[in-house]
Amino acid sequence: MARFPETRRREVAVAVSRGRVAQQRWQGMPATARAQVLVECAELLSQASPELLELGIAEVGKPRREMAAEVARGIGILRYYAQSTLDPDGQTYPSPAEPSLLLSWYRPRGVVGLITPWNFPVAIPLWKAGPALAYGNAVVLKPAPSATAMALRLAALLETALPPGLFQVIPGGAATGHALVGAADAISFTGSRAVGRLVIAAASARGVPLQAEMGGQNPAIVLPDAEVERVAKVVASAAMSYAGQKCTATSRIIVVGDPTPFSDALVAAVQGLSQGDPSDEDVVVGPVIDERARQTVLHAVETARAVGGQILTGGVAPDREGYFVDATLVRGIGADHDLAQEEVFGPFALLLSAPTEEDAIRIANLSRYGLVASVFTRDISAALRTVPQLRTGMVRVNGATTGVDLYAPFGGTKDSSYGPREQGKAAREFYTETQTVTIATADG
Ligand code: NAD
Repeated sequence: MARFPETRRREVAVAVSRGRVAQQRWQGMPATARAQVLVECAELLSQASPELLELGIAEVGKPRREMAAEVARGIGILRYYAQSTLDPDGQTYPSPAEPSLLLSWYRPRGVVGLITPWNFPVAIPLWKAGPALAYGNAVVLKPAPSATAMALRLAALLETALPPGLFQVIPGGAATGHALVGAADAISFTGSRAVGRLVIAAASARGVPLQAEMGGQNPAIVLPDAEVERVAKVVASAAMSYAGQKCTATSRIIVVGDPTPFSDALVAAVQGLSQGDPSDEDVVVGPVIDERARQTVLHAVETARAVGGQILTGGVAPDREGYFVDATLVRGIGADHDLAQEEVFGPFALLLSAPTEEDAIRIANLSRYGLVASVFTRDISAALRTVPQLRTGMVRVNGATTGVDLYAPFGGTKDSSYGPREQGKAAREFYTETQTVTIATADG
């Protein structure tokens, strides 16, 4: 998709210095002018939507409908943060003495380093860059190697509206990411737990602000009163669409009571999802990102078989060109087994059963991760009882674990997240620092 030299440590430092100069000018511009620039950015991406759609399908294999929704979301994020530029930017406090003024206001952090994964090549860079820019920062983006063509294209488009140096992309892998953590004024990371731990350690050693969004092992609890057919379709899609390659994908389906009727409906729903070429309008399950990812899924299937798991559907790589694995559902794995603990990050989900609602909650909370959970029930009391007991950053009652509302806080608990929430107004906490100002009259 793209050939590019890996950005070296020294070049990373140059990019950060360049960003610092641009940031000083950007911060000094009137908020209305910054808002207008961000509106223009949204407009540029909107005009380029058809091209970004095809690029995303080709580069990361995201099925057409989902990729179109992601491009639209990216544009929506920029529009939303363009307006946030004009929000009130602080608070006043009672004067310590008359006449005087005591206030606190939000100041930009400087140059923010963004380190992103490949699976949302438009939305994640923009949900970080949008608030960073709106609140007066410059950004240096280190995209995942598998999504670099998109990052470079986004930069080329945005550069026509943004002042030079404000949005820079530094292609590269782990070494470039590490160098960015060593140079930026703040770091926003999204990726796997293993890499996240390294980034947390490196940023803490420097004492710079960090937010890290990492993996999930997201549970969907199906209570006995749930409407079987409808819920099975929602859960099948949450687990398998985009070949399960979302941090919010459902990976543990916990059925309370007799699991058979729901299990049968779920197998049928998973088998009904259309798999194939992601550029095809009707395809829901495309390929996984690369051969390594395919092997990870097939290895998980082998492990499941070895410990007595039953493959309800899938479990094989179909005979077709591309990194495909059939959508796989497994039953009979212990809730504390590694397969129920670690992300497989593919079209692979476990069906677990629980005798009671309390057991389901306990199983849901067994994971080291805590990103998002679903609860399916028609009983409002059961929903209200269950939600506060789930240790996840987000809970969806009668909805898929997947999906993000760009104007609401996004993030998890436990090993899924570190630092303040992303998105919505919550993003301001990370992208600004508070300055408290006291102003007294010159004559005392
Ligand atoms: P990854 O952890 O392999 O890579 C993420 C980014 O970190 C990449 O840009 C990579 O080049 C960079 N990197 C690698 N080593 C580094 C180091 N030592 N220092 C600094 N940067 C380094 O993740 P991935 O495979 O690109 O993406 C999939 C993962 O992302 C999954 O675990 C998924 O759950 C997670 N994810 C989480 C969210 C969320 O919001 N919680 C959203 C999307 C994806």
